Amino acid sequence: MRMVLLGPPGAGKGTQAAAIKKRFGLAHISTGDILRENVKSCTRLGLAAKRYMDAGRLVPDDTIINMMRERLREDDAGSGFILDGYPRTVAQAEELGVLLKEMGLCLDTVVLLEISDDDVVGRLGGRRVCSNCGAIYHVAGHPAEKEGICDSCGGSVIQRGDDMESVIRERLAVYHAETSQLVEYYEKRRLLRRVDAAGPTDAVLTSIESPKVIM
Ligand code: ADP
Ligand code: AMP
Repeated sequence: MRMVLLGPPGAGKGTQAAAIKKRFGLAHISTGDILRENVKSCTRLGLAAKRYMDAGRLVPDDTIINMMRERLREDDAGSGFILDGYPRTVAQAEELGVLLKEMGLCLDTVVLLEISDDDVVGRLGGRRVCSNCGAIYHVAGHPAEKEGICDSCGGSVIQRGDDMESVIRERLAVYHAETSQLVEYYEKRRLLRRVDAAGPTDAVLTSIESPKVIM
């Protein structure tokens, strides 16, 4: 299965992707995670991307497209993948279509996680992540068992720098201005399915396990 998870920051894409990955053994490919790894390792890509990420803006399309051209050709993507945070612009969506066509593949489904802006602010304000393995927590809804320590790997659980309210508002504005255009883009291609992001953390998994979609 090859799927895209679409939705505003904080909708639960990473959380849902973890459940789908566990169930189907698909590669979970998060552009945000790849970029953060590059920032951490001070690569040229990371250095170029950091100022956009810190400001809650999109990293330029060329950079993301080149990064994903390499990533989607890695072995683990061959048996299917969940794209989390990509594409985020129409140009990225077009390029993804071209790349998959070159590889003789196509997307099976695009799941839109629907959530209000107010809920996003509440979720991102309370989000905490493991700086080592990327596990996702929430201070109220899903706290780590021992504060500050990851349940899965023992790494440090931290707040992301871009999860402060001013940056969250900018990221939401960018979503509404740019990424939300992909709803119509994929609706026209009959790939879009909508899921209520306020539901359980495995709502997407339940939705794609229906006999109509499973592949
Ligand atoms: P995204 O990847 O879309 O930015 P995350 O998966 O990181 O979103 O989730 C954002 C925050 O919301 C996290 O703190 C996570 O624990 C919480 N969260 C995710 N899904 C749900 C849900 N269905 N119900 C309540 N909280 C959720
Ligand atoms: P995320 O982890 O998906 O919330 O992404 C964190 C940040 O990484 C975003 O605010 C952007 O600055 C950058 N980013 C992630 N994915 C993309 C993308 N597909 N296109 C442009 N910028 C991206």
